[in-house]
Amino acid sequence: MSDIQIGGLVSFTTIDYPGKLAAVLFLMGCPLRCAYCSNPQFFNVGDGPYDPDKVLEWIKSRVGKLEAIVFSGGEALMQGDATINYMQRVRDLGFAIGVHTNGFYPDVLERAAPFIDWVGLDYKATREKYKSLVGNDIAFERMSKSLDFLIKHGTEFEVRITCDPRFINKSDLRAIVDDCAVRGVKTVAIQKYTPYFDEGDNHTTADAREQFFNDAALRDYINAKIPNVIWRNA
Ligand code: SF4
Repeated sequence: MSDIQIGGLVSFTTIDYPGKLAAVLFLMGCPLRCAYCSNPQFFNVGDGPYDPDKVLEWIKSRVGKLEAIVFSGGEALMQGDATINYMQRVRDLGFAIGVHTNGFYPDVLERAAPFIDWVGLDYKATREKYKSLVGNDIAFERMSKSLDFLIKHGTEFEVRITCDPRFINKSDLRAIVDDCAVRGVKTVAIQKYTPYFDEGDNHTTADAREQFFNDAALRDYINAKIPNVIWRNA
């Protein structure tokens, strides 16, 4: 399979690339199986339903109307060179390139970095709880390498922490933020968990999901640790 496999497209968004009007491409394939995943239709790198050439023609028609194209998924970097080549073609049209990634492919991130303008990197849980959330025992190390690369390379990025109360408590959140602060991360987004599965053992209460946002002491702690904190509790 040499061409990029695209599973979905959002034609206009103001929230997926900071400060820019954007479209989002959802790429096929993800190596993780997060307990809260709302995009299981993108798990496997099968044939995507979108023709990449037609999507590129559509992207060309957005010149002057949109400012950025965001590569998401699934895992945006799982398709390796096919994704990098497509990014290059989109960037040549004058769009900024954004990437939403779980950080599982630090080597691909490094090769793609010359064509990327901004990254949203998921830091999903503490090292101890990572596997129970994502179903993969090397995912934390991979994400950590990607984070190290982004800091060293100077790519503009935010670390995103989705506060699923089944896998993160307040103490975990502090520990993740502490790790980010020690590494020199400048922007962290604290994201409210929206249940995709909410039956039986997976049930969470509104209070449990809100606890990270209505604790003034926790907010003060995090705001003091990281220069730019985005609280996404909508
Ligand atoms: S990384 Fe994203 S797409 Fe992959 S399983 Fe987790 S939530 Fe789903």
